[in-house]
Amino acid sequence: MDFADAKVKGNPVILQSQELFDYLLETSVYPREPAALKELREATASHSHAFYAATPDVGQLMALMLKLINAKKTIEIGVFTGYSLLATALNIPEDGEIIAIDPDRKAYEVGVPIIEKAGVMKKIKFIESPALPVLDKLLEDKSNEGSFDFAFVDADKNNYYNYHQRVIKLVKVGGLLMYDNTLFGGAVIAPEAEVEDYKRPFRRGTIEFTKAVVADDRVELCHICSGDGVIICKRLY
Ligand code: SAH
Ligand code: CA
Repeated sequence: MDFADAKVKGNPVILQSQELFDYLLETSVYPREPAALKELREATASHSHAFYAATPDVGQLMALMLKLINAKKTIEIGVFTGYSLLATALNIPEDGEIIAIDPDRKAYEVGVPIIEKAGVMKKIKFIESPALPVLDKLLEDKSNEGSFDFAFVDADKNNYYNYHQRVIKLVKVGGLLMYDNTLFGGAVIAPEAEVEDYKRPFRRGTIEFTKAVVADDRVELCHICSGDGVIICKRLY
């Protein structure tokens, strides 16, 4: 693909080049990455699923979003070793709180000592569970509706729209919802037959979620190619 073609199609050049992504990280992300996040990223690197972790540019984007809206109470679906969780904890006030949900406590334990050392564990309530029942339980109590400032969704992609339908009620009007991996490694534009079996439900879930959320007039949104794709929504009503 040459540059003229990129211009005509408006293709984001960053998606085409590892070198350009590395440039972005090296010039603008790593120099400002807090030491604790760097440590957590390095502790995660040897994990068999290290690629699960949010990319540092997404962590940086989250930090900015959290600061812009002065987020205090947040919810995270899909914690893994805690990179995005720690990015959140470092960017909400001392009395902020995060409900963090993941059935995999073992992965979370990789991050726990680093989160503790960073002094932000008191902000975190980790719930070891699949997220849907926890969200439904939260919604049984009306006082939880509209009580969150921010949500980060980064778990099983086939459930993204199920999460959206619940999280939109938990986040207040004016609050933000961020969805990670919305370009799913490019699988969203690959023919289904070319995608590995286990990824197919995630590919389909991502495509269907994207269609549904774009049609959802309760939110204003922006779909950006940060990391593996992020959809940021603001709840409008
Ligand atoms: N946000 C993390 C990455 C999450 S990876 C980071 O920045 O590092 C996806 C996570 O979703 C995995 O840890 C997996 O255990 C979790 N997950 C899978 N199914 C889930 C479910 N039904 N509910 C909540 N979490 C789930
Ligand atoms: Ca992710």
